[in-house]
Amino acid sequence: TQRTLVLFKPDAVRRGLVGEILSRFEAKGLSIAALELRQIDAAQADAHYAEHVERDFYPPLREFVTSGALVAAVLEGDEAVEVVRAINGATDGRKAAPGTIRGDLSLSNRENLVHGSDSPESASREIALWFPNL
Ligand code: ATP
Repeated sequence: TQRTLVLFKPDAVRRGLVGEILSRFEAKGLSIAALELRQIDAAQADAHYAEHVERDFYPPLREFVTSGALVAAVLEGDEAVEVVRAINGATDGRKAAPGTIRGDLSLSNRENLVHGSDSPESASREIALWFPNL
C-alpha cells in the first residue's frame, strides 16, 4: 500500500466541491489517513511548491493557494500516487480528459481544484511537510 498527499485547493472549497471530489477518491477505494481544513501562508506555499518557486507562473499560484481555506489530505491505497494523478487528470482543466476531476469540473490551468504528489518520493516529503505527526 502507498500514501499520497492530496490538496483540495481553495477553488474546490469556494465552489463547494470538496464532497464531490472526496467521493471520487473514496469510490475508487482509497482510504483517508488524514484530512484537515487549513489556511496556509506564503511560507507554507513556498515550501510545498519548492520546485516551482522560481517559475513565472508561481507568484499568481502562491496568491491563489493562499487566497482561502483549502483541505489537505493523506490518501492511502495500492499505487495511490499514480491512481490519484489519473483521477485528477491533466494539469490544465481545459485539456484534461472527461471523467477526471479536472476534466469534469475545471476550466483553468491554475484553478484546477486538486493537487496530488507526483512520485512516492514527493509524497513522503509532502506528507512530512503537511502532517509531521503522521
Ligand atoms: P499538482 O502538482 O498541483 O498536482 P500538476 O502536477 O498537474 O499539479 P505542476 O506542473 O506540478 O502540475 O504545477 C503545479 C500547479 O501549478 C498546477 O496544479 C497549477 O495549479 C499551477 N500551474 C502549473 N502550470 C501553470 C501554468 N502554466 N499557468 C498557471 N498555473 C500553472
